[in-house]
Amino acid sequence: MQIISRDKVIYRFSPANPPVATVSPGEEFWVETRDCYSGQIKSAKDLRPHIDTSIMNAATGPIAIAGARPGDVLCVEIREIELAGYGIMPTNPGLGPLGERITAADTKIIPIEGGFAHFSPAIRLPLAPMVGVLGVAPPDGKIPCVTPGDHGANMDTTDIKAGSRVYLPVFVPGANLAVADLHACMGDGELSGTGIEIAGRVRLAAMLVSGLALAGPVVETEAAFLVVASGPEFRETARTAIARAADLIGKALAAPFPDAYRLVSAACDLKISQIVNPLLTVRVAIPKYLMPRLV
Ligand code: CA
Ligand code: CA
Repeated sequence: MQIISRDKVIYRFSPANPPVATVSPGEEFWVETRDCYSGQIKSAKDLRPHIDTSIMNAATGPIAIAGARPGDVLCVEIREIELAGYGIMPTNPGLGPLGERITAADTKIIPIEGGFAHFSPAIRLPLAPMVGVLGVAPPDGKIPCVTPGDHGANMDTTDIKAGSRVYLPVFVPGANLAVADLHACMGDGELSGTGIEIAGRVRLAAMLVSGLALAGPVVETEAAFLVVASGPEFRETARTAIARAADLIGKALAAPFPDAYRLVSAACDLKISQIVNPLLTVRVAIPKYLMPRLV
């Protein structure tokens, strides 16, 4: 099985990045990932303001999927997530929504053992491993890996976990997938600006889906399809996700727009993925009892 090394990274998603590996559709492979600080924080003495921020959010790849063409949809199946032995939660003045209440930078190292993140001797959190960054090359430009968008990237969406599938539009030949930023656990919103940041590796397979037109990412879990949208402002970003969800429902059920609009209201949940990246991310969950498959 191919193992894509965490030595091979990009800092921006761009059609100009040459692939470092090629996989066939359906072929299983491992992607090793750095933590979002590129391994610069190893102990409580390593403080976030002192690290080189230019190498943060390095994503492993790009990985070409043989035969992928613009207009296809890539389906990335997350089969397994392995975490390193410890996670990191640094904070510093100004970080996250309450950053003005932090007076000095400090770093917490969090051991991972026995299915838990050991936050302190008295507080342990059940592991809920997830992938923060998963994306493909956009059609043009150079988008820093920290910025989410219709090409995926830093969506920080808790549903992107083992057993899930992430559907992404393909913009360039090969799609050029890159992956980064595992979290041992994180709540919706990523409310202090970080999850439990951690290195590790992810076992994936990527398939090509034809006859499906997606404007942006969709995540599939056991129970739902989640339409993911990112943007600078909450109301407009929510509107984008709601519109895309209503359009998918309308198409899947051959329902006129007023009924699709009613169904998105009666059966779907709007959830906040993260509010701390350069663009915020939301998702609308369409239950599978309503829409069993993407069309
Ligand atoms: Ca992230
Ligand atoms: Ca992160």
